[in-house]
Amino acid sequence: MKRAGAGRDVRPPAFVYRRSENRSERRIKRGVKGALELCCERLPLEDLAARYGTPLYVYSAAMIRARVAAFARAFDSIPHTLCYSVKANSTLAILRLIAEEGAGFDVVSGGELRRVLRVNRKAASKVVFSGVGKAAAEMELAVGAGILLFNVESASELRLLAATATRLKKQAVVAVRVNPDVSAKTHPYISTGLHQHKFGVPISEAPGLYAQAAKQAFLKVAGVSVHIGSQITNVGSFREALERVADLVRVLREQGHDIRYLDAGGGLGISYEGTQASFEKQIAAYAKAVMAPLRGLKLHLLLEPGRSIVGAAGVLLTRVLYRKTNHKKRFLIVDAAMNDLLRPSLYGAHHEIVPVRGGTRETEIADVVGPICETGDFFARDRKLRVVSEGDLLAILDAGAYGSVLGSNYNTRGRAAEVLVKNAKATVIRRRESWQDQIRLEKVWARTN
Ligand SMILES: *Cc1c(COP(=O)(O)O)cnc(C)c1O
Repeated sequence: MKRAGAGRDVRPPAFVYRRSENRSERRIKRGVKGALELCCERLPLEDLAARYGTPLYVYSAAMIRARVAAFARAFDSIPHTLCYSVKANSTLAILRLIAEEGAGFDVVSGGELRRVLRVNRKAASKVVFSGVGKAAAEMELAVGAGILLFNVESASELRLLAATATRLKKQAVVAVRVNPDVSAKTHPYISTGLHQHKFGVPISEAPGLYAQAAKQAFLKVAGVSVHIGSQITNVGSFREALERVADLVRVLREQGHDIRYLDAGGGLGISYEGTQASFEKQIAAYAKAVMAPLRGLKLHLLLEPGRSIVGAAGVLLTRVLYRKTNHKKRFLIVDAAMNDLLRPSLYGAHHEIVPVRGGTRETEIADVVGPICETGDFFARDRKLRVVSEGDLLAILDAGAYGSVLGSNYNTRGRAAEVLVKNAKATVIRRRESWQDQIRLEKVWARTN
């Protein structure tokens, strides 16, 4: 195995450089025999790009499974259910894969619930429904499906849920999502656990809501929920939040509420820059931080990881269209853009970018940008990169979470295709969006002359 990137070994474990095999006479003649190329579970990414085109998302099933298993191991000392956060990557085949591993789901919309039920009709019993703005129709769908838990985020929402459950004559199981007023020390856009954020109910006001809920015949109080943000690498924030939540559980139980579930949310960060090998260590530290405050409480723990399950399991493949130099600044203009992967533009997020063919060891400082007419359309700025040529294929790493789901049609660009590599076989799990797909909802008045 050779090192990638501009020096350090930064690839997620499922994406490894291998010596290419002599797959065709032509290749041997061209002298590419034995070149190093980046593979996903042994399948050369260059081949996938040639077959399915670019930009292309490629996911490793083995890596997703390994991450689900790592969670199960880290938390095996207490009763728990992993409810994968669908918003991180909601492609049906990814959900099916995760359902097959025995996980449940955390949804934040009726649409996400429908996706989950589409891949497994019986999944509702392991679904939690989060979000500050659940609409009546979404509640109806979820109450009807019989989901595991509603994470209620306001007094008004609790009233609407009570009315919905009463009308359907079906019990809704509830937790109140509390806002612990703890800093997650992450990007402000993905931090949710401070009092100035829109999420949750202040801990001091929670007992009032539980008292309201307990009066409703069709509501069943069963848990407390918390989620302080995303891409959190300081596990001390989780511990701090759960200590406050554990205190609330004690108070609520004293008040006679039957609190069985503690939903600790998601938010465990991944290493976008450093080595990925440390995930086992990181999840062990996370598990310790989450479980320590709950000792002795005999709770069933719910976990809602998204990014830490799928983030490192996906790459976005893109081809270099042009090289260009403006004064002294170098640009690599690639065929993927902010409509395919928004994270750099939205959060200034860092993604490692590596050439798919090992190639030269020479490096240069360049910006990697897309074709969209926005200065914010970039994947890297002033980045030290391996020198590549026009036509070369690049892999943008750790693109499995908050990648394809944030895709759009800006600049009338069709959304990228998605491929899942599973048991050494590649399958298109979402075909490339065509121009017809994009205009199918639009209408133009009839021509008058
Ligand atoms: C987004 C979200 C998650 C998942 O967060 P990750 O950082 O992807 O693990 C979990 N729970 C809730 C309520 C969320 O909004």
